[in-house]
Amino acid sequence: MDCIFCRIVRKEINSNIIYEDDTVLAFEDIAPQAPVHILVIPKKHYSTLLDMDQKDKELIGHIFMVIKNIVKQKNVQQSGFRVVMNCNSQGGQTVFHIHFHILAGRQMHWPPG
Ligand code: AMP
Repeated sequence: MDCIFCRIVRKEINSNIIYEDDTVLAFEDIAPQAPVHILVIPKKHYSTLLDMDQKDKELIGHIFMVIKNIVKQKNVQQSGFRVVMNCNSQGGQTVFHIHFHILAGRQMHWPPG
């Protein structure tokens, strides 16, 4: 499949991998928007959150446990961090393989742009 994140999963494109297991991959964002900017993705391709259903609940839960471990590994759990998933055009999604952004290391603002 010609999906950039599927190609990262298959190691056809280099990335700075932070964490990997059978179902999840986490790697540094190529255009970081904060000192810590990591993407956490399911290895299986889902274009958007709308492609997930009840059978994916365990995977989503696992992704959040991976996120928790990464923020602790990066030692930003106390200072704080933001987890973002953009969905479709007005949500700002540009890569259509779902991913959670972990952003940390600077003050975040609200509302987001
Ligand atoms: P989104 O706009 O939410 O779809 O986020 C897509 C993210 O993927 C952006 O933050 C990009 O900088 C990031 N990105 C795109 N290509 C790569 C790549 N080859 N390696 C790492 N991050 C990437």
